[in-house]
Amino acid sequence: MIAADLRSGVERLGDMIAQASTIVPFTGAGISTESGIPDFRSPGGLWTSNRPIPFDEFIASQDARDEAWRRRFAMEATFAAATPTRGHRALAALYKAGKIPGLITQNIDNLHQASGIKPADVIELHGNTTYACCIGCTKCYELAWVKSEFDASGHAPSCTRCGEPVKTATISFGQAMPEEEMQRAAELSESCDLFLAIGSSLVVWPAAGFPLLAKRSGARLVIINNEPTDQDEHADLVLRFDIGETLGPFVGN
Ligand code: NAD
Repeated sequence: MIAADLRSGVERLGDMIAQASTIVPFTGAGISTESGIPDFRSPGGLWTSNRPIPFDEFIASQDARDEAWRRRFAMEATFAAATPTRGHRALAALYKAGKIPGLITQNIDNLHQASGIKPADVIELHGNTTYACCIGCTKCYELAWVKSEFDASGHAPSCTRCGEPVKTATISFGQAMPEEEMQRAAELSESCDLFLAIGSSLVVWPAAGFPLLAKRSGARLVIINNEPTDQDEHADLVLRFDIGETLGPFVGN
């Protein structure tokens, strides 16, 4: 069912939240746009300005690594200034109330953790861009270290321990999905009675399979996104409104 207007939609969502015992949110870039971090596919989104650098290119070419890091540094002021949105804060309130055992996110911006959800309960399917790791031995680094090395040499640095490239701790196109996170996301999807897909165009797979898995496993499915998605027909409730406006009433005090 597509909610006809914001008010009745929020009311219906409130009823579904009250009736649910286990809620699993699944979030995409849309929950963070209110914080100033652009999403991928909206007009002005990251994809309209930069073609993503696939993993094999990053490994094969120093030029690609330099470009990837230049882009990351260019975004740093935006990421550093971003704070949790009304959407993040509403989910944190439901988490504190004991309704949410864990949250699945495609986002890499660390804002769910910043909103008060324990890092262990944030399942990051695509990693985290607020730190870096070696793609060989997985030794992790602060971004400030990468920046100072880059500034000193003009190139993306390699690992001090094993010499392999250092990359933001994110999953690029063409890179294997993290096994443990995929497993935990599947378990959460299968065991909830309300699944909230929030701010995702639901076109990046395999992540986009979790709303359907939850629905097949018996959960009610709610999609909150300001444009249609391919999965709207499977949802029990579609809220085609701004996320901040829709979830704002659930922020609490
Ligand atoms: P996407 O850009 O494909 O889709 C975002 C969706 O959110 C769009 O359909 C857009 O219309 C909607 N949206 C944007 N702002 C909204 C708002 N205020 N209210 C309601 N809807 C809104 O994002 P995706 O599905 O998450 O896939 C992109 C991939 O890019 C992700 O997997 C993620 O790894 C990465 N990414 C992450 C961030 C981040 O961490 N904040 C930002 C950009 C991209």
